Amino acid sequence: MLRRSAHLAPMNEVGTVYLVGAGPGDPDLLTLRAARLIAHADLIVHDGLVEPAILTLAGPKAKFVSVAKRRARHTLPQEEINALLVREALAGRDVVRLKGGDPFVFGRGGEEVEACRAAGVRVEAVPGVTSALGAAAAAQIPLTHRDAASVVSFVAGQCKGLSEQNWAGLAGQGRTLVIYMGVKTAPRIAEKLMADGLAPEMPVAVIENACRREMRVLRAPLAGLPELVERREVRSPALIIIGEVTAREDAALSQLASEFAL
Ligand code: SAH
Repeated sequence: MLRRSAHLAPMNEVGTVYLVGAGPGDPDLLTLRAARLIAHADLIVHDGLVEPAILTLAGPKAKFVSVAKRRARHTLPQEEINALLVREALAGRDVVRLKGGDPFVFGRGGEEVEACRAAGVRVEAVPGVTSALGAAAAAQIPLTHRDAASVVSFVAGQCKGLSEQNWAGLAGQGRTLVIYMGVKTAPRIAEKLMADGLAPEMPVAVIENACRREMRVLRAPLAGLPELVERREVRSPALIIIGEVTAREDAALSQLASEFAL
């Protein structure tokens, strides 16, 4: 529900926390509900992946709190974010917790929902276009294809747990593997997948800043992924897509991609 009109809302009524997906970048990829909630929010708590253009959709009364720098050097601890959301809602404010992509895909949305519920604060989640879907569409990579892939996996590629994860079944023929947060660990990821039996020639696409003006689409065979990331200075946010589907782009796009190729 959107905000009630002012005369119906007693001063101390508890607000609602809206966990809103901001999509991968381009404000046109917001849902209508996300745009409406942003426009009506008293407080917007956003992280570093949210495009500044999206914040300009806020109403004049809105206040903003940024809880993470893009490179995550000054990230507010999760417990403090949870406490902030609860405190502000209990003080009667409607809070939009704005997250890049979708709040429930590597977005810690689950933890924030639990914190609100535990405090008796009303919470609602609004989906966003997760960056895997945004990047695939922008690069015209079909994540599934009748002739190439009927399984898609989303995996977090940061160091924690990388070696324990069993990825052998997630990539290879008929399967597409999308890796979030994998820029730093790209060499280890490539090594691990090849050790698990994936062909060194398996095509890979790296999409940096998907759905933003500065987007880059880079391609390499799996064995060339570490060199690609290093030589082209790939920076977060970027996604790594591994599978035959990344080599099916149409002629126009392949021309575009070749400008970026190694
Ligand atoms: N909730 C987000 C994911 C947050 S984890 C979502 O649904 O997309 C952060 C990771 O998401 C980044 O390290 C990167 O891998 C990916 N990411 C987010 N936005 C991106 C973008 N615009 N382009 C490429 N990758 C992106």
